[in-house]
Amino acid sequence: MAAAEAEARGAWCVPCLVSLDTLQEYCRKEKLTCKSIGITKRNLNNYEVEYLCDYKVLKDMEYYLVKWKGWPDSTNTWEPLQNLKCPLLLQQFSNDRHNYLSQVKKGKSVISKDNNKALKPAVAEYIVKKAKQRIALQRWQDELNRRKNHKGMIFVENTVDLEGPPSDFFYINEYKPAPGISLVNEATFGCSCTDCYFEKCCPAEAGVLLAYNKNQQIRIPPGTPIYECNSRCRCGPDCPNRIVQKGTQYSLCIFRTSNGCGWGVKTLMKIKKMSFVMEYVGEVITSEEAERRGQLYDNKGITYLFDLDYESDEFTVDAARYGNVSHFVNHSCDPNLQVFNVFIDNLDTRLPRIALFSTRTINAGEELTFDYQMKGSGDVSSDSIDHSPAKKRIRTVCKCGAVTCRGYLN
Ligand SMILES: [Zn+2]
Ligand SMILES: [Zn+2]
Ligand SMILES: [Zn+2]
Ligand SMILES: [Zn+2]
Repeated sequence: MAAAEAEARGAWCVPCLVSLDTLQEYCRKEKLTCKSIGITKRNLNNYEVEYLCDYKVLKDMEYYLVKWKGWPDSTNTWEPLQNLKCPLLLQQFSNDRHNYLSQVKKGKSVISKDNNKALKPAVAEYIVKKAKQRIALQRWQDELNRRKNHKGMIFVENTVDLEGPPSDFFYINEYKPAPGISLVNEATFGCSCTDCYFEKCCPAEAGVLLAYNKNQQIRIPPGTPIYECNSRCRCGPDCPNRIVQKGTQYSLCIFRTSNGCGWGVKTLMKIKKMSFVMEYVGEVITSEEAERRGQLYDNKGITYLFDLDYESDEFTVDAARYGNVSHFVNHSCDPNLQVFNVFIDNLDTRLPRIALFSTRTINAGEELTFDYQMKGSGDVSSDSIDHSPAKKRIRTVCKCGAVTCRGYLN
C-alpha cells in the first residue's frame, strides 16, 4: 500500500544505505550542488581538514597528507605544515604515531629507526584507521544521545584498540515486546495520597514496603519487588516513589576495556550507595524463544539473555541486539550494581522491569558491573541458568578479577 501511495504521488521512496558524508563526497567530486544533502554553490568548494593521513619532509619542509571533510580520498593533498591551522589534529596525529610506535616496541619486533623523512606505510595506515574510528565513534555517540530519553549523557571512548561501534546493536529506551507478547502499559490502580511517603500508597496496596528512603535510596533487601507510583496515581513527578521511571540521571561512558572484556561502562559522576543507576532493557521474548536463541548464540550472545523469573519463568529479556547502556555493562562476581524487579504501569508479575541499583558508593571513573547470575531473587543457587540446557552447554570464563571470582560467567 505504501508503494501504491508513493506511486500515486509520482515518487518512489527507497532508503539510502550510503552515509551522508559519502553522498556529499560524490557531489563534490562531480561538482554538483544538492540542497537536500547540504551541498550548495556556497560550500561546494569548501576545504576543511577532516584528518591527517601521512607525513613527509621534502627539502627541509614538513608536509602532511590531508583528508578534506566532505571530499573523497582521491582528492587528498599534501600541504606544508605552515598552511595547516588545525593544532588539535596535528596533536592527535603525533599522539597516534607515538602510540603506534610504542605498541610495536612492546611487541618484540624491532623496527628500524624512523628516518624522519617519511612515515612507514604501516604507521600511516594505523593513523588513518584511528582517525576513521574516532569519527565513527563520535557519530555513534551522537546517535545514542539522540535516541536516549533520560537525563544522563552517554559518552563513548576507545583508547585501547581499533574496534569501532557495534554493527548489530540498536538503542532502545524500554522493553521491545516480540510479536505476540503484549505489555500492558496502563495500571489498573493508582493511589490518591497527598504524601506518598507517609500514607498507605501503591506499595502497601501490593503488600510490600515503600522501596525508597527520603534520599531516593533503596532501603528494601534484594529480592523484594519495587512498586512505584504510576500514571493513575494522583501524586506528581516529585513523589518520592517515582525513581526508576525517571531514568538514568548519571552521565556514563561506554569504554573499551584493556583486560579483554570488550566494551564496559563507567560512571563519569559519583554515585551514592543504594541509588538507581539504570534499567536493563531488551527484547521481551518467551522462554522457549530464549532457549532457541541460546542454542544459536555464541558465548557472548548468551550473556545477554536475562530470565524474568520473579514469579514465573515465561519470559526472558534479550539485550543482544536491542538494548540501552546496560547492554555494555560487564559481569563481576563482586559487582557494584544489584538487580531489582520493578512494577510501575505494568502490574503483571510475569513481566517485571529490571532496575540496577548501586550497592555502594561508586566514584567517578569506576567501571559499573553486575552479577549476571544474580536475579531478582538474589539467590545464585536457585537461578534458572542452572536448569537451562541451552545456557549450560557452553561455559564462559570470567575475567572479572574479583578475589571472590567464581571462575565462570554461567
Ligand atoms: Zn501514593
Ligand atoms: Zn506517589
Ligand atoms: Zn501511587
Ligand atoms: Zn568473576
